Amino acid sequence: MLDIRDLTVRYNSMGRVTAAVNGISLSIEKGSFTGIVGESGSGKSTLMAALLGLLPQRTEITGEILYKGTDILRMSDSEMRDLRWKEISLVPQGAQNSFTPVMKIKRHIEEVLNVHSGKFGEDAEKEAARLLEDVGLDAGIKERYPHELSGGQKQRAAIALALACSPALLLADEPTTALDVIIQAEILELLSGLRKSKDLSIILVTHDLPLAAMVCDRLVVMKDGRMAESGTPHQLVNDPQHPHTKDLIREMFWQRNKKDG
Ligand code: ADP
Ligand code: MG
Repeated sequence: MLDIRDLTVRYNSMGRVTAAVNGISLSIEKGSFTGIVGESGSGKSTLMAALLGLLPQRTEITGEILYKGTDILRMSDSEMRDLRWKEISLVPQGAQNSFTPVMKIKRHIEEVLNVHSGKFGEDAEKEAARLLEDVGLDAGIKERYPHELSGGQKQRAAIALALACSPALLLADEPTTALDVIIQAEILELLSGLRKSKDLSIILVTHDLPLAAMVCDRLVVMKDGRMAESGTPHQLVNDPQHPHTKDLIREMFWQRNKKDG
């Protein structure tokens, strides 16, 4: 459904050029659960932003991103608006902290439904309640303000928001960062369940390789904007080829042990 071909992204800010993505080629099949794994600064979020046309204006982008056969990089603004939310949707990095403090949870979702699905009033209200239920939040949550939710509940609400317009492809950028280990596992379980119940394709972005290995059917390891290695979780965990893949595995296990011990 998505075919990324030789994508490069170079940021241009204040006279400085940063090559964030350097020749990535990657195909995402319908119904797949792909993990993009790499250390901070390896270009993961940049890649996600490119898929949604969300890069700053003066950014140099080359290559192709074919979504159902059409190049996203050559879409008009109005085509892009139709794509975002309804076809490809993003749970952005730090989504837990991006809710507006003075707005109830239901209002956040209703606003997306108003603007992007043309649903209003009772229709939007019912749909918001259904979406919150789909991510395992009980009905009372919708009347709460963001600060009245736990980190895990906020992450669930952020996922409900991204699902508001029934996208075919969900991008989840570090959705478990800053959550404790049990809650991390619950969020991954939720994503796995939604993949099946909503017939979603998912791209999970994380710096935690063992975590991604628990749910993804394919992992892509990024290093300095390039693809270092890709394969099934079994291949990458049991027989990593690239030194950076080995580093990522060692690093995460070490951190786990440090926390547990
Ligand atoms: P990751 O999500 O893997 O941590 P990012 O895609 O956020 O990596 O960043 C990749 C590189 O691009 C980093 O060197 C980062 O500093 C740089 N970068 C990210 N966003 C911008 C921006 N808006 N302007 C300039 N450089 C950026
Ligand atoms: Mg990032």
